[in-house]
Amino acid sequence: MRPTVKKPKRLCSAVRSHHFLYQLPEELQRRLIATKSTTYTSAYLDQVNKTSLTLDSDAKRKKQLLILDLNGTLLSRTNRRGGMYVRPHLDSFLDYIFTHFRVMVWSSAQKTSVKHMMKFFTAQQISQMVLTWDRSNFGLSKKDFNNKAATIKDLNKVWQKKGLHYFDASNTVILDDSPSKCVLQPFNSIHLPTFDHRDPQFLQHGDQALLSVMEYLERIERQTNIPNFVRKVPFSWTIPLKSNSVDRMSRYYSFKGVDEPLECDFAVPQPTSRI
Ligand SMILES: [Mg+2]
Repeated sequence: MRPTVKKPKRLCSAVRSHHFLYQLPEELQRRLIATKSTTYTSAYLDQVNKTSLTLDSDAKRKKQLLILDLNGTLLSRTNRRGGMYVRPHLDSFLDYIFTHFRVMVWSSAQKTSVKHMMKFFTAQQISQMVLTWDRSNFGLSKKDFNNKAATIKDLNKVWQKKGLHYFDASNTVILDDSPSKCVLQPFNSIHLPTFDHRDPQFLQHGDQALLSVMEYLERIERQTNIPNFVRKVPFSWTIPLKSNSVDRMSRYYSFKGVDEPLECDFAVPQPTSRI
């Protein structure tokens, strides 16, 4: 499954220096990120170079911080922006991450949209959330904020936040379908293919990306220096070989009202009103 390349409409001042990255196919972006040091600082590179140890599975350790993107990563919004479909295997994924990680959301959407897109979290999960950040947490100018300028998630902003000083590059990982948003700390990020419920490949084969992420996170959990491990063992995902109905099971959430979500099997065509 090939990730979708997203082209931002325009760039805010914070990301203008990385403009060249947006012109390139995503695979090339990945290679550039892996080989050029111009997108991140030498202090970050020093951290990446510190050897990561693998702890025993039963070793006592503090939970690491997992930052979640929403749209394209855990869900797919419908065309009319009136609802969303969640990615297959979301429930198992959420059960796992809230047990093993401190969890935070950081979306580049505006606050109201983020509230809508977080409908699938349980009340307990919401109460466990370390932070919920939206477009207002990028330090954008008013113009860039309103004009949908492209954004970069600079993890330094999180690490500098009061109460979160325990977290740093060694113990933070971000899950995002857009590599361009993570160019400042590229080895602290896991990039999975963009989930789009209209994608013919998804409709034919289903989606197991969250299962692959869980397997990878099980390895991350035991690392003492995440970026060193991620550089050595990059995340990879698998396309389901056989169509399995579980890989096409989703739920539809309407953003309007308080209706219960609807179970959806994408092996069966969905009502056009909800696409
Ligand atoms: Mg996204």
